Amino acid sequence: MSAAPTHDVVIVGGGPVGATLGALLARQAGARAAARVMVLERHVPPPPDPVAPRGLRVSALSRGSERVLAAAGAWAGIAALCRSPYERMHVWPEGATPRGAGSLTFDAAELSEPDLGCIVENAVLQRAALDAFTAAGGTLLRGELAGLALDAAAARVATDQGEFTARLVVGADGARSAARGFAGLAAEVQDYGQVAVVAVVRPGQPHERTAWQRFLGAGTLALLPLADGNLSIVWSLPEAEARAHLACGPEEFSRRVTAASDGVLGELVLAGERAGFPLRRLEAPRYATERFVLVGDAAHMVHPLAGQGVNLGFMDAAALAEVLQRAHAEGEDPGALRVLRAYERWRKGDNQLTSAAMDGINRFLSFGRDRVGRLVQRGMGWVDRSAPAKRLLIERAMGLAGDVPQAARRRAG
Ligand SMILES: Cc1cc2nc3c(=O)[nH]c(=O)nc-3n(C[C@H](O)[C@H](O)[C@H](O)COP(=O)(O)OP(=O)(O)OC[C@H]3O[C@@H](n4cnc5c(N)ncnc54)[C@H](O)[C@@H]3O)c2cc1C
Repeated sequence: MSAAPTHDVVIVGGGPVGATLGALLARQAGARAAARVMVLERHVPPPPDPVAPRGLRVSALSRGSERVLAAAGAWAGIAALCRSPYERMHVWPEGATPRGAGSLTFDAAELSEPDLGCIVENAVLQRAALDAFTAAGGTLLRGELAGLALDAAAARVATDQGEFTARLVVGADGARSAARGFAGLAAEVQDYGQVAVVAVVRPGQPHERTAWQRFLGAGTLALLPLADGNLSIVWSLPEAEARAHLACGPEEFSRRVTAASDGVLGELVLAGERAGFPLRRLEAPRYATERFVLVGDAAHMVHPLAGQGVNLGFMDAAALAEVLQRAHAEGEDPGALRVLRAYERWRKGDNQLTSAAMDGINRFLSFGRDRVGRLVQRGMGWVDRSAPAKRLLIERAMGLAGDVPQAARRRAG
């Protein structure tokens, strides 16, 4: 290939992670070069309508993610629209009570933080990140990836809107990543045989800006507090049970979810649609090859029981942006495998650790009716009484502990 590449970076997939990475890179590039960063996205959500019913899919964002989104210029748009902070979290297994022996409570006040994180609609998150990207001068292309060819000089990106060349292509197109396949990178997939039922319910009692999570012996129920007083639920269950909960009438569903919550917030009444998401664990053994790299769900998908998936993706985006900024300062080619391996080394261990932790929690707490499960459950009470252990856990969950990128360390303005 002789002509200079048309773009510095093409990001395939403008979901929350790809769009945030685009915004970080466009801001780093400055007015002169921001347009040479392209995001290819097949479905751009419309601007959020404040009076329309809320979307079903939400994410619990960590403080680290909040800071990365602020660095990307996306946080103000999210905060203005629908920010639902939660200040406390109660976790308890079947057979215990939320504040009783054997339960675990995290409180923002113990960390001198105003809250532990917040709940944001996925569509709002994605749109805010895409708006920040275009505001920084990045190029958004609505279209579909059709092919990818990687060679020493540049990557060729074929789309239904034409062909482009780039020094680096980023696969941010989610768990079923076509870009990953075209680049020849593998993915190891484990089917959990579970489905997450998501819905919005109206509680009989105020949620007190508290997130609630109950390990049921055969699944997990998470109740996430929304700013309008409702709760977003994520109820992970064996597939057949989940299908039955999705098919039953609304009153029966309300009765079942109230029972699963142990009535902790009184009667829970279904307040709209329900949807089911089959759960899988995915890990790409390698994140990078010459001129190509993976971020977000395209690289790793974890069990959603502790709401970590997109938070890991934001750390990937911030780490990759930092590595590329350093490479630029040192005059290195952003698509060089040496550069991309530095990002892979930084992020893969942390992602694998979180994925394994979610897997263990799912095995021993969500489905912990055996002897090992009961032992692990007893350990929750011990953690609750151990201030250092609790602090370590919560700081990790908030994206504040470990080798976090610069952007996640800065306080949001
Ligand atoms: C039930 C459930 C609850 C969850 N709750 C939480 C939570 O509370 N907290 C949390 O951190 N995580 C949570 N997650 C995980 C979170 O949703 C994902 O980690 C996150 O969506 C990944 O973002 P992403 O941008 O990497 O990928 P995606 O969100 O999958 O985005 C990929 C984007 O690429 C685009 N795309 C795909 N293919 C192409 C193509 N060929 N051409 C062009 N564009 C393409 C898609 O349109 C999409 O916009 C949850 C997941 C589930 C299933």
